[in-house]
Amino acid sequence: MPGFELFGDLERKEVNDVLDNGVIMRYGFDGMRKGHWKAKELEAELQDTFQSKYVQLVSSGTAAVSVALASAGVGAGDEVIMPTFTFVASFEAIMMLGAIPILVDVDDTLGLNAKAIEKAVTPKTKAIMVVQMCGSMADMDAIQVVADKHDLLVVEDACQAIGGTYKGKPLGSVGDLGCFSFDFVKTITCGEGGAVVTNNIEYYTNADHYSDHGHDHIGNDRGTESHPFLGYNFRISELHAAVGLAQVKRLPKFLALQKRNFNIIKAALSQIPEVTFRRVPEGGVESCSFLNFSLPNLETATKVAQGFKEGGVDACWNYYNNNWHYIRKWEHLKDLKSLFPISKEVKEGLAYLKTANYEVSDYYIGRNISCLIKLSWTENEVQERAAKMVNIIQSVFN
Ligand SMILES: *Cc1c(COP(=O)(O)O)cnc(C)c1O
Repeated sequence: MPGFELFGDLERKEVNDVLDNGVIMRYGFDGMRKGHWKAKELEAELQDTFQSKYVQLVSSGTAAVSVALASAGVGAGDEVIMPTFTFVASFEAIMMLGAIPILVDVDDTLGLNAKAIEKAVTPKTKAIMVVQMCGSMADMDAIQVVADKHDLLVVEDACQAIGGTYKGKPLGSVGDLGCFSFDFVKTITCGEGGAVVTNNIEYYTNADHYSDHGHDHIGNDRGTESHPFLGYNFRISELHAAVGLAQVKRLPKFLALQKRNFNIIKAALSQIPEVTFRRVPEGGVESCSFLNFSLPNLETATKVAQGFKEGGVDACWNYYNNNWHYIRKWEHLKDLKSLFPISKEVKEGLAYLKTANYEVSDYYIGRNISCLIKLSWTENEVQERAAKMVNIIQSVFN
């Protein structure tokens, strides 16, 4: 997945363009910037990549999630449904708005399960935050049915699924709003950065203003802009956008490499009867940023993960005991450890987490192994790696 593996001359050239005139901010300073508008150019590229009418770049993927929700009017006391298997950022981004994260089980797609969502809907529910983890996707049609029935927004976090598609649409462009991250380890990187994509002009306009103090961005004198509403600063810089601009141009190549490497490993593991792969919903095409496979149970998955570690197969995880990606280890969130007071409404709204039962998620995440697919591996290296993985897995069953 990580675009940083292939950092090179194109990235340097784009960054140098910005350094040449010194305007490292994305707004204003029209006269000084010699026609360089890297953030704007990157937004135009991403409209194309994500087949979305509007793109707003922001400072991170986490910011993208908060900005997306805020732009669609989600805030204090609203409940947002999110999966148990994701990155802690999902939880944080919801909390930042004073909204309440409601964690719901995943299924064999490793994404949100539509039936589990339906059970969690209350009169306070405003949005479903689908997270397209590890390059694949949840059952989007089934989730849309639940969303329509209860009049809920669908926000898609496609931070780990750049390049994946569902029924011909890029992941991230399927819901009402989509969120991307371009942090250092994502498929394309800006160093730090993120984007909100949507086809809804109102959400887009809100995102544009909200991410820059509420500035209306009318005219070319920032000092005279008015503020239709409260905003904050989630801006991306021109330097970061410049790196992203180089990377997005190379995305087709990155995706082709990812796919080649993914397919070699998948073909090798397919020969092991104990190995099964995550279910990809009908009409879905994975981005191949990760290969996810399952073993019969937590015990064998733990042994395989340990075997990989000892045998030098890096970047593979069993997320069951992982601090970043799964609810089991998020004690700081379950205990609501916060530097500042949390509202009574949110505290009460999160009380369920102390006793929530996620055994369905435990079942799927406990058996799963998730392997990052790198871009820098040569075909030979991938083949050697695949053979090593097969040996280690087989040794657990012999
Ligand atoms: C990386 C990631 C984020 C957050 O992105 P940052 O740019 O690091 O803030 C959010 N959600 C998921 C699923 C991610 O993988």
